[in-house]
Amino acid sequence: MSAGDQSPIRLLVVEDDDEVGDALVDVLHELGFQVERKARGADLLTGHSRYDAAVLDLGLADGDGLQVLGKLREISTIPVVVLSARDDDRTIVRALRVGADDYLVKPPRIGELAARLETVTRRAAAAPPDQPAVVVAGDVRIDLCARRIHVGGEPVSVTGREFDLVAALVERPGSAVSREVLMERVWGGAIAAVSQSLDAHIANVRVKLGRPDLIKTIRGFGYRWGH
Ligand code: CA
Repeated sequence: MSAGDQSPIRLLVVEDDDEVGDALVDVLHELGFQVERKARGADLLTGHSRYDAAVLDLGLADGDGLQVLGKLREISTIPVVVLSARDDDRTIVRALRVGADDYLVKPPRIGELAARLETVTRRAAAAPPDQPAVVVAGDVRIDLCARRIHVGGEPVSVTGREFDLVAALVERPGSAVSREVLMERVWGGAIAAVSQSLDAHIANVRVKLGRPDLIKTIRGFGYRWGH
């Protein structure tokens, strides 16, 4: 999993400044990373699963990188190195608390950036998978790989979106998942029409599982899997 090996680290650089972004992509590519660049934080939220690690700018065209990071941490453990011109302790500490794996101030020493990226990626790869393939709650059994749900041993027929919704919830058992995160995950965007659809899908899933208490409503926020 290190740059230069047969399988290069798949890296997403989230940077809205074309000049800075393109220069980063070029130099990281030369160092053996497989690099793509996107300008918007939203691209990291929707595309994180295609990468091994991300470099995240904080001043982005579509918002504050720290907010993006906070949302990302509700859905993904992908290693993130924040790369920002902001060098005040408060921002750095906040970024690390929100879930950055590392923080570098612009302009970075490229060798150091590459080394830190390799370190956080190796650490993530060595960590035990935080996602079991099968989640069991009482007589409800959810196979995340096969995308199947059984209740009391009987298969339950759910739509793709209903399954995605369940998967997004069971990934964080006992933790509330915001409506926004669920809409991003399942529909790829948080708009008013989707908001109604989310409630309808939750209602359907509750009926199909026959265990309405398994998905708790967190008023004004979202939903939670489990008790
Ligand atoms: Ca920027």
